[in-house]
Amino acid sequence: MPLNEIAASLYAWDLADEGVDRCLDNLEALAGVNSAYLVGLMHKEKRPLHARFYPHNPVRKYYTPEDSRAYWIPRPEAYPGRIKPMTSSREFLAGTDWLDTLVESARSRGMKTGCEISHTILDAQVAREQYADVLQRDVFGNSVGTFEAVEAQRALPCLNNPDVQEYLVGLVTDLAANHDIDFIQSCLVMFGSGFRSSNTVSASSKPAGWTAVMAVATGGCFCAACEAKARAQGLDWEEVLRQSRHLAMVSTGRDLEEAHEGTLLRESNYSETELLLENDAFAAWLLFRRRSIDDLFRVISEAIHAARPEVDFRYNTYMSQPELAGLNFRSAFEYVDSVRESDYSDQLGTPEGVAVKRAKLMKARRALGYDKPLLAALGVRPNATPETLRASVKAAVDAGCDGLSLGHYDGATMERLRAVATGMREWEALEEDWIHKPGEKATT
Ligand SMILES: [Zn+2]
Repeated sequence: MPLNEIAASLYAWDLADEGVDRCLDNLEALAGVNSAYLVGLMHKEKRPLHARFYPHNPVRKYYTPEDSRAYWIPRPEAYPGRIKPMTSSREFLAGTDWLDTLVESARSRGMKTGCEISHTILDAQVAREQYADVLQRDVFGNSVGTFEAVEAQRALPCLNNPDVQEYLVGLVTDLAANHDIDFIQSCLVMFGSGFRSSNTVSASSKPAGWTAVMAVATGGCFCAACEAKARAQGLDWEEVLRQSRHLAMVSTGRDLEEAHEGTLLRESNYSETELLLENDAFAAWLLFRRRSIDDLFRVISEAIHAARPEVDFRYNTYMSQPELAGLNFRSAFEYVDSVRESDYSDQLGTPEGVAVKRAKLMKARRALGYDKPLLAALGVRPNATPETLRASVKAAVDAGCDGLSLGHYDGATMERLRAVATGMREWEALEEDWIHKPGEKATT
């Protein structure tokens, strides 16, 4: 099947600084982009992410965004609950609907359009001050997120909290009902997956074993909303807490007995299966998190389609081990319309990196089934090479993908964008490569 959709993401400040037409002209001319989306609700992350400075922004060398602002103009009636979206206070961004700005230019070029709700939906500082009760709690009652994402000081909302669900429904309903978009994409952070790693894109395609599973006991969520929902589903909550506290202590070595036990385990041939068989209530809690995420995907999908049935819910993967955050691809993907596999291992600049991407695409393809579009992300930034980008197009073709999705224009070089189109031709990714006119002769 051909790679029909070539998507690219843009930020509001890219549009403000470079102008929407210059951004789309470059993406269209060099990489054949035919689908553009705004990162419409963006977390606190220095841009560009990897390079120190922008390669082609004519106005500023780099940008440090506010936390979790919406870059469209939200309609107040879409948010009847207590949590409302925040918009930018920066003068050059405030007051403009940057999604409409992007959509207008993209539509005039016949492109698909979309909007992404990225990793976080609450300003962490505001959340800790005003919405502390909706935040995920670890098994000792601390809010989750500050330790596993120190750089962003995130405070993760609990996805089982009714106020949080109402806010999420408001966001997607507002976007689907009031904007001319074809898809809403999200890479929302799910349940905190614990201290062991940041669980973002990893250089390895291999699961990390029992230490990673045990570390989930230091993550989330054990809040009141989760407790009520879990008890209603028949979980023995006291036993969940008892086992999870023990595992959290062993995982972190927080006291002498548990530190000793952890040492023995690390010197042993202990396995994930043994961990789960021994800790049946903890295992039940892991399954409870999976059901909670499945339920969240259903709620989001229903809200989008109730607002406008033809708008796709596109999930954007971002974790090296999504299962540690409660996300099981197979069960959750039942509620999505398409998936963007967000691996950027092409940025390792090696064939091994491309192999990681290929493995992740195969996993997503199998879970998604064969009828829904799968898009492979390509890191069109300087750490990738034209060679790894062309090889990544092959990985996408190998894995039965339906499109590509470039991340991100702000840090892209023109040479990397050009490599996408070159790779498409090299690996015959479009139908036009396979169809020739009667009587057409080969040229040498
Ligand atoms: Zn919770």
